[in-house]
Amino acid sequence: MKLRRLRTIDEYFDLLGCDKNYPVSDVLCEICNSNQFTTICKHTDTGNNVLTPVPVKACESCGLLMQNPRFPEEFYIRYYDEFYPYMRVRSNSNISKDPNNVSGNNIVNDDGKPSEFGFNSAIKRAKNLYDYINKNNISIPSKKLLDVGCGCGGFLYYFKKMGYEVTGNDPDNKAAEFGINKGLEIEKIQAEKMHYKEKFGLVIIIGSLEHCFDPNKVLSKCWEMLEDNGVIIIEGRYFPISESFRWLNSNHHRFLTNTTSQSILIKHGFEIMRSTTDPVCGADTGRNGGGFAFARKKSKNKRFLDIDKDLKKREEFLKMIEKLNLIKSPSEIVEEVKLHDKKFDIEFLDN
Ligand SMILES: [Zn+2]
Repeated sequence: MKLRRLRTIDEYFDLLGCDKNYPVSDVLCEICNSNQFTTICKHTDTGNNVLTPVPVKACESCGLLMQNPRFPEEFYIRYYDEFYPYMRVRSNSNISKDPNNVSGNNIVNDDGKPSEFGFNSAIKRAKNLYDYINKNNISIPSKKLLDVGCGCGGFLYYFKKMGYEVTGNDPDNKAAEFGINKGLEIEKIQAEKMHYKEKFGLVIIIGSLEHCFDPNKVLSKCWEMLEDNGVIIIEGRYFPISESFRWLNSNHHRFLTNTTSQSILIKHGFEIMRSTTDPVCGADTGRNGGGFAFARKKSKNKRFLDIDKDLKKREEFLKMIEKLNLIKSPSEIVEEVKLHDKKFDIEFLDN
C-alpha cells in the first residue's frame, strides 16, 4: 500500500477544507496529568491513503495513548460540525475489501449523512449489547438509558423498544437529525454540555469517549447522572486490525485500550466489573478491534478528580493502577505497534 504523508499541518487544513489555520499546543495526560510523553506515531490516517502530521504519543506515567499536541476547542467544534462527516466518507473502511468494513456497505452516504444501513447496523449492535447484558446477568438498577455520543440513535431505538426510557446526545448535527426524524429524543450538543435532571440506571458511551474534547468532564457528569449501582459501559479500540496509523487515526483525541479504559474509569470512582474483547455488540457488525469496559457507580468509592492540584492523591492513584497491572510502558507499546505493522506492505510516498 502506498501512502502519502502531508508535510505540514497547513496541508491538513487544506485537505479538510478548513479556511483558518489553528495553532497546536502540547497538553497534559488526560488520565494522570503527566507532561512526559513518547511519540508512537508521527503521522496518522485521514482516509484515502493520506497521512497527516497529527502525532499520537503515549504517557510515560500511565500509558495513555493520545493525540498530542492538540488543536484548540474551537477547531474540534468545527471539526465535528463541518469536517467529520466528510472524513467518514473518505475513510478506507467504506471500501468493501477493507478489514474495518461492514459487509461491503457504507455506513454514511456521500453527503456525510448516516444511511439507513448505518442505522440498522447500530440497531443490530444495540440488540447484541442488550443480550450480552442479560446473558451475563449484569443488573441495571432502573430501565433508564442515557447514550452519550449516540450518533443516529440506533441504540436508543432498540432499548426503547425493549421498554427503556431513553435519551441521547451528539454534536454531529447530521447524525442527530437523522435520529430525531425517527422520533428519538436526541440533543445536538457536546457531551461536556449535557445536563439532565433525572438519574439513569445505564449510561453507554459507544466509541464516543475518544472523540470528546474533555473526557474527564464527560465522565464526571456521567458519574453524577448515574444512580448508585448504575452501570456505565464504554467502548474503546483495544487493539489494531489495520495499520497502526489507522488504529491511531486523526479523528480520535485519545485511544482507550484494555488498560487505559479501566484506569480512566477508576480515576472517576467507578468499580470495574469487566473489561473485555468479547464481541459485545456482535461479531459481524464491523468495528473489529473494539473492547468494552463495564463498571458500576459506587458512591462510597474514592474519586481522583483533582490530581492536578493534589500530588499525593496523584501518587495514590498511580500506585493503585500500577498494582492492578494497568500501566503499559511506551517502549512496550512501540514494540507491539512495530510488530503489528510488519504484517503490512507499507510504502510512503513523500513529496
Ligand atoms: Zn498519564
